[in-house]
Amino acid sequence: MKDCLFCKIIKKEIPSEIIYEDEAVVVFLDINPVNKGHALVVPKKHFETSLDLPDSILCDVIQIAKRVAMKQMKELKCGGVNYIMNNFKAAGQEVPHAHLHVIPRFDEDDLVFLQGNKSGYEDDIGEFREKLNIV
Ligand code: 5GP
Ligand code: ZN
Repeated sequence: MKDCLFCKIIKKEIPSEIIYEDEAVVVFLDINPVNKGHALVVPKKHFETSLDLPDSILCDVIQIAKRVAMKQMKELKCGGVNYIMNNFKAAGQEVPHAHLHVIPRFDEDDLVFLQGNKSGYEDDIGEFREKLNIV
């Protein structure tokens, strides 16, 4: 897509630190990393979110993310890895081209994503089980 930042990175119109590329995906380092080695796995075709991605490309993305995570564990000696995908603005998506964050984690690095949030919905879980059943 013409005016998409990540499409421009994929076409090498904008420079980035690429650590992997094949016919389906490219992986580059986040320009504003939340931790060392923070990488983005990005499908080459433009889709806005993971909900738009064909399943086969979604599989490509997660398979490559696993390889990136294994490399981060080995080379950075991190103790864990977060996969994070923000879908749509309400979920914090800033760049409207689907991408999976692969974030190395270290004991006591003090990063907080979803832990510790109190929604107050704990008494309604049964209701949501019915509403959200996808079978
Ligand atoms: P989102 O909030 O959409 O899930 O994440 C977008 C990510 O893209 C952010 O972590 C941001 O730092 C990163 N980003 C934004 N612009 C650029 C850029 O020009 N180059 C690179 N490498 N990363 C970018
Ligand atoms: Zn794009």
